Amino acid sequence: MKTSFGTAPSREVIRTLENAGYEAVFVGGAVRDYLLGKMATDIDIATSAEPEEVKVVFPITVDIGTAHGTVLVLKDGEPIEVTTYRTEGTYTDHRRPDEVRFVKSLEEDLRRRDFTINALAMTKDGELIDLFGGKADMADRIIRAVGNAADRFNEDALRMFRAIRFTAVLGFDIEEQTFKAIRDNAEQIRYISVERLKAEMDKLFAGDNPAKAFCSIQNTGLNLHLPLFPTDIEKLNRTVPFESAVEGWACFMIAGNFSSSDVARAYKLSNVERTFLSTVKDAYANRMNRQFTLDDYYNYDLAALITTEKIFQSIHNIGEAMSSTEIKQIKQSLPIQSLADLSVDGKKLMEWTSQKGGRWIGEWLGEIGKAVLHGTCKNDPNDIKDWFLYEFNREK
Ligand code: ATP
Ligand code: MG
Repeated sequence: MKTSFGTAPSREVIRTLENAGYEAVFVGGAVRDYLLGKMATDIDIATSAEPEEVKVVFPITVDIGTAHGTVLVLKDGEPIEVTTYRTEGTYTDHRRPDEVRFVKSLEEDLRRRDFTINALAMTKDGELIDLFGGKADMADRIIRAVGNAADRFNEDALRMFRAIRFTAVLGFDIEEQTFKAIRDNAEQIRYISVERLKAEMDKLFAGDNPAKAFCSIQNTGLNLHLPLFPTDIEKLNRTVPFESAVEGWACFMIAGNFSSSDVARAYKLSNVERTFLSTVKDAYANRMNRQFTLDDYYNYDLAALITTEKIFQSIHNIGEAMSSTEIKQIKQSLPIQSLADLSVDGKKLMEWTSQKGGRWIGEWLGEIGKAVLHGTCKNDPNDIKDWFLYEFNREK
């Protein structure tokens, strides 16, 4: 059924705006994804009502970008972005319009959008509004700029990277003129903040077709102007697809022979991502020489072990490949996962030795951990006590 587009609350928002005498339609990624049969991540509504007018119509709203025309409407607990039809003024910095101007025509609003497949709108009754040939391009699986591609990329250079990101996510090809315009203007990607590039890279890595995007990045010359990019994309292409964006970043690091801090700094990764990359780098250096050892299984977290083995096999394809399930089984069957799992604690060591606390406790707990991990003694208080007192007295 056509009318199933959007959620009930979002259709209700449109109905309310219409009843108040305004136009309102679904726009952007949600319409595109619906036509592709995909779940949309966020639903955007465009309207002829200005932000102040939207706020009068709905009892609960949140200001999230009134200057740009966006008001968040909370309808039955669902947050829905409602943005006033707008055009963008001149762009002097290649990344942001100098001003946005509210307009009354949907056509003008759709014209400022980046690609034809993103310039589709839909009424609440499921009727498609296709003023720039987006539906045909979708059928042909093509990403085409709305209007003159070079002009559009000159306005906002991020659009070049968005085009490439959509090749990874949708598996589409970039239309010839649009592709040529990226090649001719690649240098302008330097105007774009690292944060925006990182967000696009995350989506690219999480797509079904990252190799397609890597090839386009190289063929357009964008790689030369990005903060960091592997010279050997063949190596990188061997590691696709990725389980997650962070796995993509790890493959990017190994394929480029970068250090984890190089990548983290260049793209402002989060601390969690940085730690993951540093673990993979370390685990990978070991894996290059041998299979994982008991200590590796103990020291590295599961996700890092799985990613490391995957990269190693993708790039080298030698020896027996370990599946994620096997790695998980081995890791889970270790006698302890961390020192917190030991059946004794520092207090026990003090009791057994009649000694005061100090650094020695941490050091000995570490030794006990190793002994338990390697099966020298069982993770049982009596076994540990025997082993510990023997070793402790021997060292004195
Ligand atoms: P995603 O599935 O990642 O959300 P999206 O196309 O919905 O993809 P958004 O950033 O949510 O991307 O943007 C919503 C819509 O706004 C786009 O579909 C497009 O119409 C428009 N848009 C977003 N960024 C730009 C841009 N840089 N230039 C022109 N139009 C843009
Ligand atoms: Mg979106």
